[in-house]
Amino acid sequence: MDIYIAPIKFSNTLLLKNLINELSKRFSSQLKILELKFELDNFFSKERGQYFSTQIIAEAMNQTSSINGKIIMLTEVDIFVPVLTFIFGEAQLNGKHSIVSICRLHEEFYSGESNDDLLLQRTIKEILHELGHNFGLRHCTDWNCVMHSSPGIEEVDIKGELYCNSCAVHVEDYKYFRA
Ligand SMILES: [Zn+2]
Ligand SMILES: [Zn+2]
Repeated sequence: MDIYIAPIKFSNTLLLKNLINELSKRFSSQLKILELKFELDNFFSKERGQYFSTQIIAEAMNQTSSINGKIIMLTEVDIFVPVLTFIFGEAQLNGKHSIVSICRLHEEFYSGESNDDLLLQRTIKEILHELGHNFGLRHCTDWNCVMHSSPGIEEVDIKGELYCNSCAVHVEDYKYFRA
């Protein structure tokens, strides 16, 4: 299984490099960059000032039907689904597409101070979380598990950065089991 990272309005090349490096340690899969070409503005809600992630995923599905593997879109724009004020990410349960926004993973968003290490850690957590949904995982009650729900940044920081062993067995090519 290949894992594709598809940057869409994403300019942080150092973060991208670090993410691929970190994900390579956790998966035996090949990690590849995928270029998707579409106009993100089509999915912008003027009322909300945010982008509708479910529609972005639908557009990505149209363009990637021939690709096998998991496709994680990474963006800097703020994303939403109608029932929530914002989301860090969205994934298709048992599907191949997901999207993660780093807009609200930036520490600047909260304290005004940037923290690159924290941003990397938070982004890895959210990518692993959304990938877990792609592999059919639902939210886990174990706070040490990255599949614990994290509606706000506090929960992102509190939860662990690995899958618990009972979640991990469902994730293809994952190689980072706990002792
Ligand atoms: Zn979730
Ligand atoms: Zn778990």
